[in-house]
Amino acid sequence: MSHIKISSDLVHHQKTMNAGNAAMGAWLRALCFCARNETGGLLSKRAARLIGPRSLLMRLVAVGLMEIAEEGGYRLVEDDTLWRIDRSEWSRSAYPDVRARDGARCRYCGRDDRPTAIDHVIPRCRGGGDGAENLVVACVPCNASKGGRTPAQAGLTLRPPPERN
Ligand SMILES: [Zn+2]
Repeated sequence: MSHIKISSDLVHHQKTMNAGNAAMGAWLRALCFCARNETGGLLSKRAARLIGPRSLLMRLVAVGLMEIAEEGGYRLVEDDTLWRIDRSEWSRSAYPDVRARDGARCRYCGRDDRPTAIDHVIPRCRGGGDGAENLVVACVPCNASKGGRTPAQAGLTLRPPPERN
């Protein structure tokens, strides 16, 4: 999985305004499709049919967000100031593993009747990583009170994960 980084400037960008929201929706999906399938920005005719009607895609061509590809279909117009594909590992990918390991129980206070969040044991701002070994389920109050501190600094004790049955 990859991320797409989109500039916040896009909100008022002339191309956005000219394209309109419907075409921008098609553009976002085209971006995701190309990133997910690593097409190098090429949207084949077949893929284009899955993304949206020709009128929307031609609208994107008209405003300069896509172009007609020589090989058929469309191609995303590259523009580093507006968007780029980030192929680094998606940082949230460890979250399902952490949920499976810790369940609904807070690893700090031990309660399982509160809404939970995923907490970085060593906060990212202190160099903590995004791997499951640095992530735990924490209830929202514990997570909020801990803030950008380590458990020791916040006066919290990390409990072991629940036993598996
Ligand atoms: Zn808690």
